[in-house]
Amino acid sequence: MAAATGVPKVLPSELKGLEYFFKEHRLATFTQWPFDSGCSCTPDRMAEAGFIHCPSENAPDVAQCIICFKELEGWEPDDDPREEHQKHSPNCAFLALQKDISELSLQEFMRLNKERIKNLVKKQVNKKIDELEKYAQHIKVFSR
Ligand SMILES: [Zn+2]
Repeated sequence: MAAATGVPKVLPSELKGLEYFFKEHRLATFTQWPFDSGCSCTPDRMAEAGFIHCPSENAPDVAQCIICFKELEGWEPDDDPREEHQKHSPNCAFLALQKDISELSLQEFMRLNKERIKNLVKKQVNKKIDELEKYAQHIKVFSR
């Protein structure tokens, strides 16, 4: 059997997180979210604005956009999730959507996913650059 030619290869990392295109999957990540009813940043409004909850030990209120991958923390009860998203990532393709993701045409969906993958690669490259710079610092310290 020969490998198919002309068919783009999909990497596992590009498929990971696709379920978060659906609001109910984003909402399901907010079980430990510290803000609830009476707040502006409820789990429902966070999910509506494109965020998932990805807490860490040092940062229990980190929320990340599923398209631009911007991570925001230090939430206040009065913060409006959509406004915060807009303020910190004004060019995010999620914010530019005129309709719910479930109503997108296949072409619109593919375009949005392309943006997501572009942002994912950018984030991974920047992380690698940071690591290398830290490593270079380390080398400099020891070569003095
Ligand atoms: Zn975003």
